[in-house]
Amino acid sequence: MPHDLPKAYDPTAIEDHWAEYWVSEKLFTQPTPQKEDGLDHQSSFDILLPPPNVTGNLHMGHMFEHTESDILMRWHRMRGERVLWLPGTDHAGIATQMLVERQVVSEGSTRQQLGRDAFIKRVWQWREHYGGTILSQMKRLGASVDWDREYFTMDERLSVAVREAFVKLYEQDLIYRGAYIVNWCPRCQTAISDLEVVYDEHKGHLWEIRYPVIGEDGKDTGEFLTIATTRPETMLGDVAVAIHPEDERYTHLHGKKLRLPLMDREIPIITDDWVSREFGTGAVKVTPAHDPNDFALGQRHNLPSINVMDDTAHINDQGGKYKGLDRFVARKEVVADLEAHGLLAGIKDHVNNIGHCDRCKTIVEPRLSLQWFIKIQPLADKAIAAVKEGHIKFTPEMYAKTYLNWMEKIHDWCISRQLWWGHRIPAWHCSVCHKTTVSREDPTKCAHCGSDKIEQSTDVLDTWFSSGLLPVSVFGWPGITSENRRDFDTFYPTSLLVTGFDILFFWVARMIMMGCWFSLDVPMPDGSPRSLAESVPFREVYIHALVRDANREKMSKTKGNVIDPIEIVKQYGTDAVRFTLASMASPGTDIAFNVARTEGYRAFANKIWNAARFLFMNIDRAADAGITIDAASLGFMPTVEPGAPLESRWIVAEFHATADKVNSALAIYRFDDAANAIYQFFWGSFCDWYLEIVKLSLDFNEGADKGRTTAALSTLVGVFEASLRLLSPFMPFLTEEIWHAVYDGKPTAKSIALTHFPQPDSAAMEPAALDQMGLLQSLIVEVRALRKEIGVEEKVAVPIELRIDGQVKNVVSENRPIIERLARVTEVRFVNQISGGLAKHATSQFDVSVVYERKIDVAAECEKLNKEIAKQEKNVASSDRQLGNPAFTAKAPTHIVEGLKKQRDEAQHLLDKLRSDRDSLGC
Ligand SMILES: [Zn+2]
Ligand SMILES: [Zn+2]
Repeated sequence: MPHDLPKAYDPTAIEDHWAEYWVSEKLFTQPTPQKEDGLDHQSSFDILLPPPNVTGNLHMGHMFEHTESDILMRWHRMRGERVLWLPGTDHAGIATQMLVERQVVSEGSTRQQLGRDAFIKRVWQWREHYGGTILSQMKRLGASVDWDREYFTMDERLSVAVREAFVKLYEQDLIYRGAYIVNWCPRCQTAISDLEVVYDEHKGHLWEIRYPVIGEDGKDTGEFLTIATTRPETMLGDVAVAIHPEDERYTHLHGKKLRLPLMDREIPIITDDWVSREFGTGAVKVTPAHDPNDFALGQRHNLPSINVMDDTAHINDQGGKYKGLDRFVARKEVVADLEAHGLLAGIKDHVNNIGHCDRCKTIVEPRLSLQWFIKIQPLADKAIAAVKEGHIKFTPEMYAKTYLNWMEKIHDWCISRQLWWGHRIPAWHCSVCHKTTVSREDPTKCAHCGSDKIEQSTDVLDTWFSSGLLPVSVFGWPGITSENRRDFDTFYPTSLLVTGFDILFFWVARMIMMGCWFSLDVPMPDGSPRSLAESVPFREVYIHALVRDANREKMSKTKGNVIDPIEIVKQYGTDAVRFTLASMASPGTDIAFNVARTEGYRAFANKIWNAARFLFMNIDRAADAGITIDAASLGFMPTVEPGAPLESRWIVAEFHATADKVNSALAIYRFDDAANAIYQFFWGSFCDWYLEIVKLSLDFNEGADKGRTTAALSTLVGVFEASLRLLSPFMPFLTEEIWHAVYDGKPTAKSIALTHFPQPDSAAMEPAALDQMGLLQSLIVEVRALRKEIGVEEKVAVPIELRIDGQVKNVVSENRPIIERLARVTEVRFVNQISGGLAKHATSQFDVSVVYERKIDVAAECEKLNKEIAKQEKNVASSDRQLGNPAFTAKAPTHIVEGLKKQRDEAQHLLDKLRSDRDSLGC
């Protein structure tokens, strides 16, 4: 038999096959446009996939992001646009290094023992074996990305871009190196950016320490100045104590010196407006090497900086007798020693906001260190203007404000990391003249003194430095010439970025800064300079919601409520999971992922499968009767002749109206509205109504009206084929399978994804057909409800009485067979008034009643009633027994007792009703 579909819908049986087919046939590859293709930018739609970490595994958030992106991609592709979804992975400096370090340690070695070169080799090996798991998972889930353009941020091509960007900014005097306070992770042994620090409230202490005041004679005066601190161990690096100049408590101490306890060092008392008189004692210790505010104070007052800790946050040789101690051990000893010397004035409870390394959760140590920074203001100014002038649009809109708030308060960006895995900074330090050479090519000599005693910086660049460059680097920057600029001209700026709020600052903001800065290197195709509007990396940003569990809790490993998308896909199929996510995705609202809904959409997929089987069965029966549907008539928007039967005109009108809703909803990222419109159309209009009605016209018997059957069948097949295309972006696997079957193995394209997305024609949304069918539907619904109310058995057909307005009466008379079939009606009696004594339903257009005299088997009914009465009597008796037992009522919780009382009353009520029924039957 042609069009053979297995009886049961089994997603696993079809999904692997199509996923592999899409990749091997390179269906979603978007080659570099050639000159003869024209470069009309309007017709392109492209998105960069937020590159997952090379260490990553697919989680529900990814699956959600990829579902939304893939729906948009498939939709735009089917609208005939030049579509590109560009995938890749990020080398993820800290995360990857941590993982491989752990592996090395488990083998009894360390990163340091291996040495830099050998360790980096290990990371590459690791990447070969395990990297990119998430991309293979994406392949299996059918993401329609261009696999031929897949990149890795450490690829040679992208590394050239990273180097160019660094050198260029350096030449523009926008990169500097200096000793500043950074967030230091003692475990990762690197500086990390402000964004990589997560803050937690901790109950800690505020220690109050007495610093002896020194008199003119150089001896202690016996007076003390008390300071308060949350990190007493840092006092080892104190260089001053600061007070507010107008703090009257301390006026007499202006210009005096203090003796730093434990270190026996003389330090000055300085005055500065920055000091808060209200905090602690109003006197603060100044430790420029270990606190950003103190560092600024130190700069203002020309104070030295004494760094008392090493890279692992152990006290170094600047810390006297505490040398070698871990910072928290040192804290205990410092406090104990102060107490022993009578210099501890007090300990107060204090809630601290403590920063942790986002990667390894170690407490971050603010610490002075020599790092590379970008002077960010000129880049930020452009990035602010790009959004303020409307060249980049945010959805939901509120994120534009969040972005601008952050961007307007931005600090210089510390871009160096003390890691081994990453892009090594292209700067060479000269040990002769101590100057730095920054160069595009590896230098052999110092650019300043010509010495060959130069060594490359051991630092690497922040991972986000390279990912921030992606929108320009993936399309060929730097090195764009008139010969190789077609990708850039076609795809830059990209159309849209779909991403999560969590990387708005990390990545989105940095891409905007770097895109607006570096794309200026590439003039417009006609040679004119690039405007800000054309220099943005993307024209729109869509920030998607978070996927939470069914109770709206954030998914987390510690809570154990994480849903693995791969597992859930195995259970329900990719299509059902995608549809669940889409149907719940409205901008700005988090998703409470509920498996029950996925079960529902699995049933939806099943419904479509069965509809296809019904269709194919009829196509085969038609073929036997000599009726064939021309495949050339498919692939368009369904149309219908004006004189066609109501159900044909109606389903075509409904289809156009649905296509209209879906297109409009997708244009504003209302994935939920689009999915729900398709669901209602397919399940409700098409399966529940149209299929039932069209059965009346599919008569393949000898002597039947062949013309009518042919017309009905071609509308049925036409609407079904178009519906598959409408559904395809949401359920790509199922629709691909059935669509190929519709064409009986001879499809018009390699994939349904390469056909046309249904575009509505307002003329086809015939209002009369929609109204008339609406009337029939509401009549059928009312009759069905009445039948249920008065207990008409399923199989019994009955007459109805109908009072209806003259204008629409003929709609009913002309479509009597539909009502008779769908509402099980033998006869429609038009009346001016419903007969007395009949139960009726009234609507604004009609009154209807079912004429039914119930015939029952009295003996059988009595037996049924007696059985039920016996059962309820038992229930009541058992409840009475329990409630009458004082031991139970005394011990059981109130709500249990109350519940039981309620149950008993309900059973009693039912019993009364059953007994009265029995009496009226005369049993
Ligand atoms: Zn760390
Ligand atoms: Zn030199």
